[in-house]
Amino acid sequence: MTARPLDAGDFGTWLVGIQQALDGDGGSDVPCDGCTACCRSSQFIPIEPDETETRSHIPPELLFPAPRRPEGHALLGYDEHGRCPMLVDDACSIYEHRPRACRRYDCRVLAATGLGLAEDADQPLVAERARRWRFAYATPGDRDRDESLRAAASYLDDHAGDLPEGAVPAHAAPRAALAIGIHDLFLGREPDAAAVGVAVELRARPRAAGSVRRPGP
Ligand code: SF4
Repeated sequence: MTARPLDAGDFGTWLVGIQQALDGDGGSDVPCDGCTACCRSSQFIPIEPDETETRSHIPPELLFPAPRRPEGHALLGYDEHGRCPMLVDDACSIYEHRPRACRRYDCRVLAATGLGLAEDADQPLVAERARRWRFAYATPGDRDRDESLRAAASYLDDHAGDLPEGAVPAHAAPRAALAIGIHDLFLGREPDAAAVGVAVELRARPRAAGSVRRPGP
């Protein structure tokens, strides 16, 4: 049976909001409606040094130093079932104090870019949810941006090995976030014409695409 589609909202409004969230300006506002798929998907949650309020609500033994990050950066892991240890009775037990990465996470980035949606995706629960989102397009310009997002995502998928080492995240959600960040380069252009701009942009960008949560190994 095909799962019921979910209303993802107006595409243009969503895109402005998610770009702001990925740039560190505010959080996402996902209509999760009881879904906890991303909390059950074996994800390491990065906690930044200034997140003192969040840290005060997480038992210290659940945090460990983030590899290859400066001192003070931590990760919150997951249990043997891939569940966040702060998920209690199928709800976030520290919701008001949840990590910044959780506030910014939005599985609609997968729906918008087409990344991480396959049946055999490394996060099947999130993929199942993301496949159900349907955006509304108010203007032809929104359709153009949607196409440029998908073109940027396909380009990153096809050329990850040719671009500077480490510039293209291996996992779908941060890769989708990067596609959102560079999609302007594909607006009204063939992918080959956007390629030079992509290489310049990726050299200038920090390696981690914001604080999007990354799946575990
Ligand atoms: S997978 Fe998506 S809808 Fe489900 S809890 Fe995470 S962000 Fe919300």
